[in-house]
Amino acid sequence: MPLTDHQTRMPRRTTPARRAAFGVVGALLLSLVTACDRDEPAPTTSASFAPSRTGPEVPQPAPNPSPTISASPPAGAQTPSPLAGATTVMGQFSTVTGTVDKATLTAYAKMADQAVTDVSQQWKRAWPRKVTIIAAKDAAAFRDQVGRADDLSQVAAITDGPVDASGHATQDRVILNPDAFAKLTTTGRQFVITHESTHVAVRSSLPGAAPLWLVEGFADHVGYAGSGRRRADLAAPLLTKVTQGKGPTRLPTQGDFDPSQGEIAPTYLGAWLAVDLIARRHGEAKLQKFYEASTVMDLPTAAEIAMDRAFVDVLGTTRATFTRQWLAELNQLAAPR
Ligand SMILES: [Zn+2]
Repeated sequence: MPLTDHQTRMPRRTTPARRAAFGVVGALLLSLVTACDRDEPAPTTSASFAPSRTGPEVPQPAPNPSPTISASPPAGAQTPSPLAGATTVMGQFSTVTGTVDKATLTAYAKMADQAVTDVSQQWKRAWPRKVTIIAAKDAAAFRDQVGRADDLSQVAAITDGPVDASGHATQDRVILNPDAFAKLTTTGRQFVITHESTHVAVRSSLPGAAPLWLVEGFADHVGYAGSGRRRADLAAPLLTKVTQGKGPTRLPTQGDFDPSQGEIAPTYLGAWLAVDLIARRHGEAKLQKFYEASTVMDLPTAAEIAMDRAFVDVLGTTRATFTRQWLAELNQLAAPR
């Protein structure tokens, strides 16, 4: 799917032929989830995992060598190999297949059902309102499902699936990383599943690609909605940089999301705050119009041009003016209170 055509560096693959048909929409890094997992009370979960607390007291994972987004090859080929010995639990809007115990599968199905409800409240395009989750028990099976051999220990989840001729993703799967999920609280797991389900909804109903900051910022916007957390708390890793004079000077580019280029958690948070600012100023309906108008079946450069136009046509502003307002808000949030 062109959505992910930005990234040229492809991950190493264990099964290149099979994966050739798949567009990976994103690998949400574990470090990015800690923003919503921070300062959480002791987790209450029926899952058999013993999720540990994550937060600032836990050292941030080293930058992950695996790309967050990989290029999306042409659609139309083979399906991934089934997970051996898997059990499937059907939720209201979800199918969860995995080799973890049934209580955990059931818990994930409930989270996915919640995610579908939450996503549908904010993403108004008609989409199938179904999410498929793969929950392998061990890292090897997870790697096999995503078709990668590189170190994925810090990747929370990956969404991938084929795209049809019209540009719609038709069979996206959200593949959960068991190592990462073992470290997350219930809230963190819900955030990951909602973030990825947002990609599923968008990919299945809006063909093409938008600039990456909008794609990821919107998924975080839906994921954080209703979290009850203050923006300044969620965005702390970014605001620290702003305080140090190392904050952004422009909206995130595709390269800013590449973990091999540096720390990417602040990039995600900046993207989220930009999307959040649009939602607060213009409302959810305009935000979605802006997303749609910034999405093209073309190269990323065309999406940037479409977005420039959308700032004017949909939001009645310009990229430059909006960027100044966003940066001003970052400074304001970072200012000592
Ligand atoms: Zn994402």
